[in-house]
Order: sequence, then C-alpha cells, then structure tokens
Amino acid sequence: STVLVSGASGFVAAWCCRVLLQRGHRVRGACRSEEKAQYLQQLFDRDFPGQFETVMADDLETPGVFDEAVKGVDGVLHTASPFHFNTDGKAITALINPALKGTENMLQSCLKHGDKLKRVVITSSFAAILDTAKPVPQQYTEEDWNETSVKETERDGEAQEPVSSYRSSKTQAERAAWAFVEREQPSWDLATINPPYIIGPPIHPCASAEKLNTSSKTCWDILHGAKKEDDMPGLLGCVVDVRNVADAHVMALLHTEAGGHRFAPTIGELRSPSPQPRSADTTAGKWTLQDVADIVHSSARIPAEWRGNVPTGKPQTGGAVVQNGLSGEKTAKVLGVQYHTLQNTFEATAIALKDYEKRN
Ligand code: NDP
Repeated sequence: STVLVSGASGFVAAWCCRVLLQRGHRVRGACRSEEKAQYLQQLFDRDFPGQFETVMADDLETPGVFDEAVKGVDGVLHTASPFHFNTDGKAITALINPALKGTENMLQSCLKHGDKLKRVVITSSFAAILDTAKPVPQQYTEEDWNETSVKETERDGEAQEPVSSYRSSKTQAERAAWAFVEREQPSWDLATINPPYIIGPPIHPCASAEKLNTSSKTCWDILHGAKKEDDMPGLLGCVVDVRNVADAHVMALLHTEAGGHRFAPTIGELRSPSPQPRSADTTAGKWTLQDVADIVHSSARIPAEWRGNVPTGKPQTGGAVVQNGLSGEKTAKVLGVQYHTLQNTFEATAIALKDYEKRN
C-alpha cells in the first residue's frame, strides 16, 4: 500500500516515513522545499530503494494544494503544521491559519480525490487536551479537551501570546477535522495522535543546530548549558519519544478499531523500575530537568564533554515535584505501542545531536 505523509521534512514526519518503509509500505512524502525533498530521497533510497517518492506541496493555505498528492494513496498521515513560538505579534497568520487551513485543505483533497483512501491520521497534540483554566485531573486522557486557548484567540486575535496561540492552532485544527468528517461522512475515517512534547533522535533534513525543530532544540539547549542549578528540579511537562509517536501514527493507520479515536502516546519508565504508564500513576510521562541530569551524569552513552554543561542538582529527586501526568494506556493497549524509557530516549537524542554539532 502507499501512504502520503505531509510535512515529510519534519522531525516527526521523517520518522513516520521510516517506520512505514520498515513495515513494507510505499511512502509519498509531501515537502515544500526541493532541497529537503532531495535529502529525504537520498536518505531513504539507501535502505528502501524504489519505495519512497516526494511530491511538492508549497503552501498549506492554498486550496487544492494536496489534490495531486492524495491520488492513489491508501492512507494519509497529515503532520504538516507550524510548531514554533515566533509569532511576532501575528498569531493568526503565523500559526493558526496554516494549522487550520492546512488541515481543512488536506481533508478536502482527500474527499475529492482519495478514491482508494481508507484512513487519515492527523498529528494533533497534547496541546489540544491540556486546558490550563480547568481543574487539573489526576491524570490527563484522550477524553480531555482544551477549550481555553481557542477562547483566548477569539479575545486577543493576532496579539495572542505565542504558547497559547500554538495550543489554539492545534485545537482548532483538530476540532475542524472531526467536524469535517461528521459533516461530510467520507468513505474513509479519521484518527488523531495527540502527543505531548516530543524528543528523540532527529533524522530529518536540518542544515545546522540553530535550525533544529523546536522540541529538539530544547534538548540541544539543555546539553549546551542553558539550565543552571537554580532551575532545578525543573519541571518540563509531559514527554514522549519521536519513534513511538511514529509507531502510533502508523498503527493508527493500520488498526481497524483505531478509526474515530484520539491517541495520546507518552514516555515509558521514567524513574522507577516498573513498566509505565500505569493507570494509577499520576506522574506518568512527566519529566524534569533533574531526570535529564541524572541520565546525563550516569550514562556512559552521553558524550562526556556535555556533562559539565548540565547541573547535577539532587539526584533521583525529580519525581517529587511531578503530578498530573498523561495516561499513555490507550495507545499502548489499542495500538500496541511499546514505549521507550526516558533513559533510552535521552541517550539516543544526545548521540544524534552530537552529529548536528559537527554541522555548525
Ligand atoms: P517540524 O518543525 O520539524 O515539522 C513541521 C513540518 O510542517 C515541516 O515539514 C514543515 O516544513 C511543515 N510546515 C510547517 N509550517 C508550514 C507551512 N506554513 N506550510 C507548509 N509546511 C509547513 O516540527 P515537528 O515534527 O515537531 O511537528 C510535526 C507535527 O507534530 C506538527 O503538527 C506539530 O504540531 C506536532 N507536534 C509536535 C510536538 C513536538 O514536541 N515536536 C508535540 C506535539 C505535536 P519545512 O520542513 O519545510 O519547514
């Protein structure tokens, strides 16, 4: 079967392409840059000759931009959407329009030209789950929805604060997708993946560390001394491995029963030896700077010269400041995703980022 992946040059999408190819699918990657398309072509031709092709899709906001790309595909992973906080006072233009119109345009193209299509999987986000104005549940699940960020957009328009704008962009795009399917009743169905902060080894085209995607840049900054002892223990929120996010996308495409569902994957074991997430574990998936420091200072796999950049803090105390995590149970149970541990994820991230250091 053939699967279209939009935003193929992105951190998450490149991994989605790789997982699809590893499982024997043909992949059509939609990109807006010729240079990045060529990079991906070379990357995947090495291991999967003849199985990967690219298609140009310049502007998410142009109606019909995916019309050609969806023709003849069995499945679609729509990942393309801006993830950054550089709105420069233009929240709607920079984040919300590309997210929302990009999703609507993709679904319109699927409706018109997706003759063989069985399922569309959209990369939404934990940002469409977390509502900072609502009482905090013991543990977040796929049942929760962010309503506040969209209200903030309605109130503040272009001047909206960037983090809230991003959350609003993801919430509006996901809402629009479910509404589209409800209204149009297409022959295919929809699933969404709602990951929290995604880290892991980047494989996507990226000319230098400065141009790394937002979440990989966070890891880069930590490893280059951006955090001090005073920032410890440093709650960083919920987190998941990019390889598991890709697994979740691919499994959501393949498992019949995934249609109509949201899936929030998370990180596996963080601090205790028992497998996580467990439904009773309210800290599931939440990481701290202290957790990262513990890994950096104890792991032989982390490049030694980075150790001095990361404060030691008070080893093994990260868990004490964590509450209200995200349950990754549904993704594990329904999609069979087996989560990486934070240790494994952060080591793989650091090793891959070492390669980016050489590009500077
Ligand atoms: P990247 O920035 O690496 O990828 C974003 C992709 O979308 C790139 O291919 C980019 O193209 C494309 N894109 C962005 N804006 C536009 C636009 N205006 N027109 C056309 N293409 C565009 O980020 P991620 O891989 O992290 O993000 C992928 C998806 O995952 C997004 O939907 C994001 O919201 C979601 N997500 C990410 C999380 C994270 O922590 N990383 C957490 C939860 C969800 P180009 O390469 O040409 O710039």
